Amino acid sequence: MKVKTSPRHRKCRFPSCKNILSIYNHEIYCHAHLKAICWGTNTDFTHAEKTVKKAS
Ligand SMILES: [Zn+2]
Repeated sequence: MKVKTSPRHRKCRFPSCKNILSIYNHEIYCHAHLKAICWGTNTDFTHAEKTVKKAS
């Protein structure tokens, strides 16, 4: 059974991100940005941090 792989040396589509995607990652973003996009935070980690601090 063949494992589906993606072309090598694809770069994360996130602006200014230079992460190279794994051939096993079939998404267009690296894992870090994929997570951020799933959360809908727009990778505004600074803002996310502030929100967490405020909440606690
Ligand atoms: Zn990225």
